[in-house]
Amino acid sequence: MSRINFVENELTIDPFLFSHGYKNGDSPLQCDGKCCSYGVYVDVEEHKKILANTDSIKKYFDETQTTDVSKWFEQEFIEDKDFPSGKCIGTEVFNDKCVFLNKSGKCTLQQMSIAEGKHPWDLKPYYCITYPLAVIDKKIEWDDMLDGERPCCTARENFNTSCAQACGLEMNFILGKNHENVLTTKHNEL
Ligand code: SF4
Repeated sequence: MSRINFVENELTIDPFLFSHGYKNGDSPLQCDGKCCSYGVYVDVEEHKKILANTDSIKKYFDETQTTDVSKWFEQEFIEDKDFPSGKCIGTEVFNDKCVFLNKSGKCTLQQMSIAEGKHPWDLKPYYCITYPLAVIDKKIEWDDMLDGERPCCTARENFNTSCAQACGLEMNFILGKNHENVLTTKHNEL
């Protein structure tokens, strides 16, 4: 799998990821796709790679998605130094969900890659893979977008498993370490 290198310099890890966590068996693997309701920002190169695969992606869309490529992304790139190119663009929301989310709550970019024998994360945007972690100003942080709304995205002060441990696969991906066990976990289905 060839991916854009998002992080070239050393990263720091927010201590929050060790002082908060999940309890009672909750984990990121309970994901029900709620985090995909709003779309995601992608780098210029990720945008290009997705558009280079439009015909294949469309084959895996269902009736709740649009094959009109002009509706897949917002109109303008915005400056953002957390992206390798320094610019990003948002995926559009269609039928109250990311344009790439199918009616079963699965990411079509991932489903297409799996169906075509590629790594499940081949086309999936960087910040979709890392969520609920995010890299902000070269620091790995907790993304609190859905904190308190969904057990899979809620970090608690009283916990059994720290965020860092529960999100080990996402952390390894960010740090460039081996994350191939994605192929044997529920991550492969998201
Ligand atoms: S690109 Fe895929 S994983 Fe990312 S928000 Fe859209 S549907 Fe969800």
